[in-house]
Amino acid sequence: MKVTKAEIVISAVAEAQYPDDNLPEIVLLGRSNVGKSTFVNTLIERRSLARTSSQPGKTQTMNFYRINDVFYFVDMPGYGYAKASKTEREKWGKMIEKYLRNRENAVLIFQLIDSRHEPSEDDLLMYEWLIYYDLKPVIIGTKADKLSKTNQKKAVNRIAKSLNLKKSDELILFSAETKLGKDEVWECIHNVL
Ligand code: GDP
Repeated sequence: MKVTKAEIVISAVAEAQYPDDNLPEIVLLGRSNVGKSTFVNTLIERRSLARTSSQPGKTQTMNFYRINDVFYFVDMPGYGYAKASKTEREKWGKMIEKYLRNRENAVLIFQLIDSRHEPSEDDLLMYEWLIYYDLKPVIIGTKADKLSKTNQKKAVNRIAKSLNLKKSDELILFSAETKLGKDEVWECIHNVL
């Protein structure tokens, strides 16, 4: 898809604010700083539609980006921010849970995991929660340019092993620098639209 129009429609904190134009929604989940904003900007070839943050965990809103008036990217607030208070975490949990369990427009979930490290406890909890509710995500291993080819292979195996992925489960290594995985991600998107 050639992106000719990309706009942030709303930074929502409550259900009443979700867009009501009934377009399909593609959800991005991942811990703070994993590269969600960069992922969006890379896919749509905009430098800074989605705000990249050097202060992880700062944005606790669900950002709806409307792409070509065809679908939305819904960038969820990052999980597992160490400095977030218990109240903030609970608020986060409720907001995301409500969206994911009820929102019929959500047609695809990308869960982003930093390919350089072992998936965190929060990554695993998020993944298991999604599987439990029959919301299997496509896993994206981010920042793959920071790994050598050999270590990229190791990263794939490490993530697959810790999430207990099957051969048929999708896992895409991604890099904003080299554009690795970009075409594959677009293919996933096209498949659900
Ligand atoms: P978010 O908090 O998940 O939205 O993460 P950001 O998109 O703001 O990215 C966090 C940091 O990781 C920023 O400094 C980005 O430049 C960096 N980053 C994100 N994706 C990549 C990537 O593919 N390669 C490299 N080398 N850095 C990345």
